[in-house]
Amino acid sequence: MSQQLFEDDVRFLQRFLKSAGFNPGIIDGIWGSKTDRAEDEFINKSQEIATAYGTFHQRSERNIMTLHPKAQEAARKFLKRLGDEGINARIISGTRTYAEQDELYAKGRTKPGLKVCNAKGGQSNHNFSIAWDIGIFDAQGAYLPESPLYEKAAKVALVDDLEWGGNWQSFKDRPHYQLITGLPIEEVRARFERGESYI
Ligand SMILES: [Zn+2]
Repeated sequence: MSQQLFEDDVRFLQRFLKSAGFNPGIIDGIWGSKTDRAEDEFINKSQEIATAYGTFHQRSERNIMTLHPKAQEAARKFLKRLGDEGINARIISGTRTYAEQDELYAKGRTKPGLKVCNAKGGQSNHNFSIAWDIGIFDAQGAYLPESPLYEKAAKVALVDDLEWGGNWQSFKDRPHYQLITGLPIEEVRARFERGESYI
């Protein structure tokens, strides 16, 4: 009976649950029995998806559990396609609260040249649970921050319902993938905050 996801931010959890079709009651930032039950239902649903689509490295699992159920399905199919091609990829980042996004943004500003993030809280699809970043690892398990394998990963695993950050013009973000909503991000944000569906 305690918050398991987004521990510091009840309001964020409620928005996340409600927009994904679970009912935490009124979005008021206050932990209560409805929020608790909705979170349990979300976790049960996530476990069903894992059973149906397969499980992966624990770091991937931890991050997949922060995604919208539709993104969880897409992420698991995505990792399966990469694995089938012998690419050792893990999901190293999933959903971030607005506060976590702001922190990352600030980090990117203080270390010029460090390509971590160009979006503030509420401006990234990571805030709306439909985006993930991959890390690619070699056979010995060492992380490869730069590798032609990021291009290869997109070749083998990019499907119609996914957008790849490597195709962006201004800021090429090769580890980044997100579900395509067909909506401007401002609209996604507005719906997320009201607890309405956007995917
Ligand atoms: Zn990203």
